[in-house]
Amino acid sequence: MRRLFIAGNWKMNMKLDSAKALAEGLKAEAAGVGEVDIAVCPPFVYIPAVAEILAGSNIGYGAQNVYFEKAGAFTGEIETAMLTDFNCKYVILGHSERRHIMGESSELVNKKVHAALAAGLTPIVCVGELLSEREAGVTSQVNRRQFDGSFSGVSAEDMKKCVIAYEPVWAIGTGKVATPEQAQEVHADLRALMTERYGKEVADVVRIQYGGSVKANNAQELLSKPDIDGALVGGASLKVDAFMGIINACRSIQK
Ligand code: PEP
Repeated sequence: MRRLFIAGNWKMNMKLDSAKALAEGLKAEAAGVGEVDIAVCPPFVYIPAVAEILAGSNIGYGAQNVYFEKAGAFTGEIETAMLTDFNCKYVILGHSERRHIMGESSELVNKKVHAALAAGLTPIVCVGELLSEREAGVTSQVNRRQFDGSFSGVSAEDMKKCVIAYEPVWAIGTGKVATPEQAQEVHADLRALMTERYGKEVADVVRIQYGGSVKANNAQELLSKPDIDGALVGGASLKVDAFMGIINACRSIQK
């Protein structure tokens, strides 16, 4: 059985007051939700304030990125111990905005995955194809290559602790959501690849979130698909009602 996992990626879309208000609002509204796992990933600098608000609640929190080195002269970077200092549980790695805007390779993502696991963080590792890649018919190859590169050298035991987020780049922040069938096809392909690499026991427990314009009105249909185990949500995680709408739409779905 896989518990559904709904995570919000707040990106660079707030200031301190709005981050705190969002965390307060979610904490109050989600207090009675026990059926699904919930998390939010604020910008680094707002993690301490959000951590204070969410401590002891049913909403986990984490970061949108982390560096792989442990300490030292890495100006501008944040290490895993800085996240665990604030009891972060999750870290998003390899988001398409990092891969395509910041130029992160799967090799770099892989180093971060190892560092996160070593620190006891749960990596949410994003993979996803560009529109041009989908149109060229290489969706499976792209996602498989990103999976293999990002998880290289990760043991079966550690793989079980990871979360994968399939995020077709053409669906992120565009309002152009993948159809449930398109998403399910890629999720099933990723689970088949995980089975090849790690065996069925591992592939059966690892959660694969879908991300890309998830909203309250499309979440239930997407997450009802057998291999879609949650959502990584950008825009709709920035308003309490919109994020709660997604959560509430999926509470009764069992995997
Ligand atoms: C994301 O930020 O990972 C994302 C999926 O954004 P949105 O929900 O806005 O498409």
